[in-house]
Amino acid sequence: TTSIFSAVEMAPRDPILGLNEAFGADTRTTKVNLGVGVYFDESGKIPLLDAVKRAEKTRIESLPARGYQPIEGAPAYNQAVQKLLFGNDSPLLAEGRVVTAQALGGTGALKVGADYLRRLLPDAKVYISDPSWENHRALFETAGFTVETYPYYDAAARGVNFDGMAACLKSLPAGSIVVLHACCHNPTGADLTEAQWREIIEITKARGLVGFLDMAYQGFADGIAEDALALNLFAASGLQFVVSSSFSKSFSLYGERVGALSIVTASKDESARVMSQIKRTIRTNYSNPPTHGGSVVAAVLSSPELRNVWETELAGMRDRIRTMRQSFVQKLQAKGVAQDFSFIIKQRGMFSYTGLSADQVARMQNEFGVYAVSTGRICVAAMNTRNIDYVVDAVAAVL
Ligand code: PLP
Repeated sequence: TTSIFSAVEMAPRDPILGLNEAFGADTRTTKVNLGVGVYFDESGKIPLLDAVKRAEKTRIESLPARGYQPIEGAPAYNQAVQKLLFGNDSPLLAEGRVVTAQALGGTGALKVGADYLRRLLPDAKVYISDPSWENHRALFETAGFTVETYPYYDAAARGVNFDGMAACLKSLPAGSIVVLHACCHNPTGADLTEAQWREIIEITKARGLVGFLDMAYQGFADGIAEDALALNLFAASGLQFVVSSSFSKSFSLYGERVGALSIVTASKDESARVMSQIKRTIRTNYSNPPTHGGSVVAAVLSSPELRNVWETELAGMRDRIRTMRQSFVQKLQAKGVAQDFSFIIKQRGMFSYTGLSADQVARMQNEFGVYAVSTGRICVAAMNTRNIDYVVDAVAAVL
């Protein structure tokens, strides 16, 4: 008898995980992995934040029973998320217009949101930025959508092709779903200005588009409230929209899978009905979220003392990335590199689109053991004062 799996084909490898495997197998002691999507501290490690440590210790010492959570997660967590996204005094929260469900990281929030929108708007297409986080397309396609792109990055100008983006959005049919990076665009590090966000919101309104704001890096650009600018402009516009948010980076809780899906509705009554549908989506996927990560985040956010510790630690991560950007550019200059890399200082978040070609990236990997994504994306947060000179040498050598 033949196995039911005998004709199964090997699925393509995730490009970034493939890079990690190659890096792991590299025996050079000088190797550096700039391909990751993770914040490393100055010592090259994923930090366990002090605020997290303290909240975890308290939780473990209290030896809580492990009952099921509500389908949408703990109310304390969901309320803390809403305040972080929209601000303590948001009229939307007072009016009961935001529905929030704990999700398995930002990815889980995107997936629950995508599954729900697919039932709500079965004829809609989804538009993602060109380029975008590599999982956006597959995620929305797997939910059943046709996925197209809107122009976003202008490689020559090293910034946003705003005219192209705006013209494309103006041409979309009503009900189209537009996935927007709320801050720290992955992979380019190029964000919209406030004036540009306002224009996108006007187009969204005029065309009847559905904004899906993905915020995976709140606090990594300018600050917690500052990075929520796009969300709050959408909130003030009176539009309905969707937000996926993640604590993977801002709390350095990657493996705990802590995120949230929030949906802004027109009324409290709509919220109740939308929440009932979100719960249906969650119930038939994984029933309810895990307890640990969400309770730790909720404890930190609701304790003035721990929150203060966390905000300081988050600022520390943000500042270290900024320092690495400046240092990288200065060192390239000092090395006598003719090309102007100062755009790297203006890019926001963990990543930098360096403009290095796939060939140059391959040479850095082969000749130096410096790994980057073939698109030229590097993780600035993987550099530190000990490896940066080596990285600069590698970049200068392949230019
Ligand atoms: N959205 C974007 C734009 C991201 O860059 C990431 C992570 O790399 C995610 C979502 C997923 O976040 P999480 O790891 O919390 O699922």
